[in-house]
Amino acid sequence: MSVNSKLYEGKAKILYTTDDPEVLLADFKDDATAFNAQKRGSIKEKGIINCSISSKLFQQLEAHGIKTHFIDSPAPNQMRVRAVKILPLEVVVRNIAAGSLCQQTGLPLGTLLQPPLVEFYYKNDLLGDPLLTRDRLLLMALATAEQVDTITHLALQINDFLIGFWQQCGITLVDFKLEFGVDSQQQVLLADEISPDTCRLWDIAEEDPNRRVMDKDRFRRDLGNVENAYQEVLQRVLKVVEATN
Ligand code: UDP
Repeated sequence: MSVNSKLYEGKAKILYTTDDPEVLLADFKDDATAFNAQKRGSIKEKGIINCSISSKLFQQLEAHGIKTHFIDSPAPNQMRVRAVKILPLEVVVRNIAAGSLCQQTGLPLGTLLQPPLVEFYYKNDLLGDPLLTRDRLLLMALATAEQVDTITHLALQINDFLIGFWQQCGITLVDFKLEFGVDSQQQVLLADEISPDTCRLWDIAEEDPNRRVMDKDRFRRDLGNVENAYQEVLQRVLKVVEATN
């Protein structure tokens, strides 16, 4: 497999075509952005850390019957993935109220959400990624009704698995964002990444609301020790994966 041309550059990854039209190469960057790219920075080794965590989680999810775009990881910050058409949706699953949910509803930070909440946002930087209703999503033809049902079911299944996985790491899964793609056979696959950039992860052993944060909120809210937190998440993931293999 040789790398051909740059297909797309996003905020956290660069996608390259390969000799195989069904396969793309994702190169994870150290660049970090927040608040619709108004805040910009860089987190040392983030590309390697997020690619490694995502690779392990995709492998674990595949072993639990969830289809993902993951093929393999030819370098620490690179992932070979199946070429899919990404649906322009950010699918957010929430177990505990935080972030925009608290800001928009007034629910106190830390409120337990049972059953978990599945939300769809329109992936559109110009519009600021607005929250969608099911009817708006269908009106805009961002996905079919069948795809919405499939994605909702998959998101809840993935949440069930991830809650348990992160718990083994000593981490509470507060919320996270998923993206899905459609392959050439019209199959819906989990795509993008699952990492401290896309999940809120709280250290179970820490009660202090700032010290417990092990995810991108450390960067968003200038809490310091961002690299250390990301490294710690990776080390715990590797330990749990090693113990389960
Ligand atoms: N999230 C993400 N990318 C986005 C928006 C949100 O990965 O563009 C993740 C975020 O890290 C959190 C979850 O989705 O784990 C819910 O984010 P929220 O809607 O609360 O928005 P935020 O407070 O991050 O702006």
